[in-house]
Amino acid sequence: MSWVRELSHGLEGRVFDDEATRAGFATDFGRIVRRTPAAIVRPGSAEDVARTLQFAAGHGLRVATRGMGHSQGGQSLSDHIVLDMAALHDILDVDEKGLTVTCQAGLTWRSLLKRLASFGLSPPVLTNNLDVTVGGTLSTGGLGVASWRYGTQADQCLALAVVTGEGEIVHCSESSNREVFDAVRAGCGQFGVITEAKLRVRRHRAAVRTYFLLYDDLAALLDDFQVLIREERFDYLESWCAPCPQGFKRVGDGRQAFAQWFYPLHVTIETDWRQPSEEGVKLQGLRFYKYVHSEEGSTMEFFTRLDALFALWKRGGFWDCAHPWMECILPWEAAPFYVTQVLGNLPPQAVAGGHILLWPARGHASSVPLFMRPRSEYVVGFGILPAVPPPFLDEALPRLHQASAASMMMGGKRYLSGWVSFDPVQWNAHYADLWPTILALKRKYDPKGVFNAGFLQAQSLGAADFG
Ligand SMILES: Cc1cc2nc3c(=O)[nH]c(=O)nc-3n(C[C@H](O)[C@H](O)[C@H](O)COP(=O)(O)OP(=O)(O)OC[C@H]3O[C@@H](n4cnc5c(N)ncnc54)[C@H](O)[C@@H]3O)c2cc1C
Repeated sequence: MSWVRELSHGLEGRVFDDEATRAGFATDFGRIVRRTPAAIVRPGSAEDVARTLQFAAGHGLRVATRGMGHSQGGQSLSDHIVLDMAALHDILDVDEKGLTVTCQAGLTWRSLLKRLASFGLSPPVLTNNLDVTVGGTLSTGGLGVASWRYGTQADQCLALAVVTGEGEIVHCSESSNREVFDAVRAGCGQFGVITEAKLRVRRHRAAVRTYFLLYDDLAALLDDFQVLIREERFDYLESWCAPCPQGFKRVGDGRQAFAQWFYPLHVTIETDWRQPSEEGVKLQGLRFYKYVHSEEGSTMEFFTRLDALFALWKRGGFWDCAHPWMECILPWEAAPFYVTQVLGNLPPQAVAGGHILLWPARGHASSVPLFMRPRSEYVVGFGILPAVPPPFLDEALPRLHQASAASMMMGGKRYLSGWVSFDPVQWNAHYADLWPTILALKRKYDPKGVFNAGFLQAQSLGAADFG
């Protein structure tokens, strides 16, 4: 394509338009949406990003900013240009005294963690999957087992370098260019490309002790979540919904697989090696059904604890299935009814090669404006994360769509890294009072509608302005 050659002139980095590279960027971890880009830009600098965006705006082209493409709804896909931010992955500064790190946005959290390990430092919030980029999770939020206390990874951001849709490089923070700072954190790549981030880090203790508890009663688990958060008994809270299949029950004229659901809860505290366990005090009054196991290990090992699970998903072929992941954040009061109803209608086999997450948090743990969450004192995150083989996809998508719509009807908010199939009305409902702000930010920072046109669709934003 002639414009591809023109685009590559003057870039420090490289532009690819060969079939093999394009095919490698045609889908994401969701494997539901497909868009083959005409070109992939591997920028060599923020200036390259700026030149690419100016070029796209001038030629009526669309750009998707991509980290590792681990989102699941086409967020990082484009028919025209994909900006492969993984090319910008340097660590620029570790400030051991000031407890900050500055890095390029295409760095993975795993690489960052490795570098910080020798200092005994780590980011306050880490996602389960460490092979995603700093820019990728700052753009969606970034949630982990410490989020109940620290909010999102985007909350740990102190300053950013951003290239806006018009190709302007802006340095922003809470005290400088605040509007851009607030637009790109959890901004889903809609208002700018993050090229650099200064992040808060913390000094962790060397070891952790984890208690594996099992609940058979959702209400008891939710009560205990509140106790654990209020009293700050542990550092990390991690929980799932696990089915015990009960065969098939009669539903109408047919039969439907169903399960009795259980809830494993792992509570983890940082310690120093061989420090006496305070198990009696720490677990006092909790209403679990069974104490299953406890263990001690290094904190670094704890951060990578899910590697073993993801390796199993890969070996079993589940990694290559479709992943229409549906995560939402529910108001506390809505959680028992919503979770019970959704699990009651979920065939247990739907969880093979995936899992169902449940996580509690303080409602005010995050203060990132575009990270949408209910306004209750406590919230509950719930995520159906299946691996769906192609023959089951047609059956799975309507169910997940229904679970998504029900969460919104009950005052919940979707986590936007997943499979999101909102219509314009749902986009508007998701951002609610902030919808006019979204439109204004889009007009100001992406007036030509260059960014990720396939995700937050043009018709949601007003096609006349952004088409
Ligand atoms: C196995 C697995 C486990 C996961 N566990 C968690 C978890 O525990 N917690 C959690 O929060 N998420 C989790 N996720 C979701 C994942 O963290 C998010 O989808 C994340 O956004 C992916 O990062 P990425 O680098 O792959 O970004 P991509 O998927 O490439 O992009 C995500 C979004 O960010 C935008 N973007 C990417 N880079 C930039 C940038 N530099 N500037 C501006 N916008 C940008 C993209 O345009 C897109 O909208 C998991 C995903 C997988 C596959």
